Amino acid sequence: MRKASNSPQQQHQGLATQEPFWQRLALTEMNAEQWEALCDGCGKCCLHKLLDERDDLPADAPMELGEDLHYTNVACQLLDLKNGGCSNYANRHQYVPDCVQLSVGDLGAIHFMPPSCAYRRLYEGKGLPNWHPLLHNGSRVPMETAGMAVTSHSCVHDTQLAPEDGLIVRWPLFSGE
Ligand code: SF4
Repeated sequence: MRKASNSPQQQHQGLATQEPFWQRLALTEMNAEQWEALCDGCGKCCLHKLLDERDDLPADAPMELGEDLHYTNVACQLLDLKNGGCSNYANRHQYVPDCVQLSVGDLGAIHFMPPSCAYRRLYEGKGLPNWHPLLHNGSRVPMETAGMAVTSHSCVHDTQLAPEDGLIVRWPLFSGE
């Protein structure tokens, strides 16, 4: 007898005849573990982004569909720039009160996420990118080799540099396939 595993990744590996959960289920049908497993840990959502100023909108107006989002190389103070991921996930709101935890309810505004983001891709009817850790036994190496993670690039924390003073970078806009 073999011990059955419940992790989304092992479910995918073990059930060769069944489609993996991200192909079988809609985002709205996934359980919390499957939802979490979709995150590739690229950290690009933790980069500060800028919007063009508009005379008809206040400076803090949320992004509207069709607007260009400019990614900077300035990251949230809690992003681990060496290994990826949040360095204090459990207590992050204590330090970064406006950190957003992506949920099903946010899918209508998913264009705010980078084009490679698994949630955005699935929402837009695309598959996972070929470097996604779920397709490589959880390894980040293909993602980093493809230049898809913040750990593949030179970034600074917002405690060192204001986002407005950082560089506008284009690499977060690529999906690498
Ligand atoms: S951009 Fe998407 S896949 Fe990448 S770390 Fe953020 S939530 Fe996860």
